Parts: sequence; structure tokens; C-alpha cells
Amino acid sequence: MNAKTALVTGGIGGIGTAICRRLSNDGMNVIAVHHPMENEHAAAWQAEQKAAGYDIAILGMDVSSPEECSTRLSQLLSDEGSVDILVNCAGITRDKSFKRMEDDHWYDVINVNLNSVYNVTRPLWDAMLENGFGRVVNISSVNGQRGQFGQANYSAAKAGMHGFTMAMAQEGATKGVTVNTVSPGYISTAMTEAIRDDIREAIIGGIPMGRMGTTEEIAGAVAYLVEEEAGYITGANIPINGGLYMS
Ligand code: NAD
Repeated sequence: MNAKTALVTGGIGGIGTAICRRLSNDGMNVIAVHHPMENEHAAAWQAEQKAAGYDIAILGMDVSSPEECSTRLSQLLSDEGSVDILVNCAGITRDKSFKRMEDDHWYDVINVNLNSVYNVTRPLWDAMLENGFGRVVNISSVNGQRGQFGQANYSAAKAGMHGFTMAMAQEGATKGVTVNTVSPGYISTAMTEAIRDDIREAIIGGIPMGRMGTTEEIAGAVAYLVEEEAGYITGANIPINGGLYMS
């Protein structure tokens, strides 16, 4: 059987790298999407993966641009034949209390975290339905489930991702296409290392497991959801948060 092709947005980031490596280990052709402004960094990242034994392709594409996604992904589909697995993992934060939030903080976060999910899924979706197989995994956040002070923009975008998941799961259900959300809690990456030390310690103090999660723990759940044997799981929101939020 031919190897499946997986596209991972935010693929060169902290969580994205672990997902790319895991899917590559599982025998898939993996393409990591990065921002076009990060060309140099992406090339260095790719060389680093190669040195570690991972052969991962890279694709520069601004996921917040519908035109760019449509053009690049139509081309990718004709080059690759199919994209079987899509992991929507690109994301940014622009934290501000709502009192201090400016238009750019709101729109940038909605565009990169939520509108990107439309922009990237739209050009790939019809082919998944026609092929009778597809896996879409949206990387949301615990803060989309419970809200977070200073993150009205991010919480709205991440909650919106799961609304999209549930609607799309119904549209793909009879066609072999599953759509799920993975909601990480606090994971050790550059995003969480940037949090001030005392605040980070307070966050860890509030996590029942007393630690942040690892990127590999997120990648493991994604790897399971994209397998054939997970074909009956759709529209789910998998929390991976050390007990921080239970529903
Ligand atoms: P990261 O900053 O390391 O990676 C995010 C990636 O998104 C970057 O590599 C960047 O290239 C890419 N990106 C940003 N804007 C883009 C654009 N316009 N076009 C294309 N690519 C763009 O972050 P991370 O910690 O690895 O987070 C990955 C995902 O997981 C994000 O969606 C984040 O919201 C989510 N998440 C992270 C945590 C955490 O604790 N780190 C917790 C919950 C959810």
C-alpha cells in the first residue's frame, strides 16, 4: 500500500515538529507548512530533521491567506495525488486583557488560528471525500474549552475550531473522513517558555499532574487519530492537559 501523505501546518514549531516526526516514524510522507517569512529557519529545521533521520518536506504558505492556500494546495494536490491527513496546528497568541485589546490583536489571532482552518481545509476537503478516506485533526487548546483571562481572542478562535470540527465531522461521516480536535493544556515549548517564570510556576501549581505536558504526548494522540483503526472516532475533542480541565 502507498504511504499516506500528511500535511502539518505549524509543522516547524514546537508541537508541530513532534507531530511531523511521529507521523514520519509511522511511515507517512510528511510535509511541514511554515510561514513564508521563515524560509531560512525552515531550511535549517529541515536539515536538522534530516540529520536526525527524518525526511520531511517543507512548504512556505501563509495560512491566514485564503488566496495563497488555494493556489499552493491545488498545486500540492496535483503534485502529490492526494493529501490524506491534515493537521491544523499553526497558531499564535497576542494576549491582552479585553480592556487593552486592539483590533490587530483580535484579527491576527482569529486569522491565524481559526480562519486558517477554513483556508487550509477548503482546498483539500473535496478530494478527501472523493477518495473515501481522510483525517483532519485540529489543534485547539484547553483555553478554548474553559476560557482564559487575557485571551478573549485566542479562546474564541480555539473554541471556534471545535465548532468547525463537529460540523465537518458530520459532513465527512459517511465518506471515511474523520475530523477531530486535540486540546492541549500547557505543553513545554517556546510558547510556554516565554511565560514569565513566576506565572509559569503558578500555572504548574494548578495542574493536578504538577508538570507541563510534552510535545510527544500531543503527537501520540494525533498519530492515533489518523490511523485506520481510529476510523470510528469523529467530532471528538481530546483533552491532553494533565487534569487541568475535566468535562
Ligand atoms: P509554535 O509557536 O512553536 O508553533 C506555531 C507555528 O505556527 C510556528 O512554527 C509558525 O511558523 C506557525 N505559524 C504562525 N503563523 C503562521 C502563518 N500565518 N502561516 C503559516 N504558519 C504560521 O507553537 P506551539 O507551542 O508548537 O503550538 C502549536 C499549536 O498548539 C498552536 O495552534 C497553539 O495554539 C497550540 N497549543 C499550544 C500549547 C502550548 O502549551 N504550547 C497549548 C495549547 C495549544
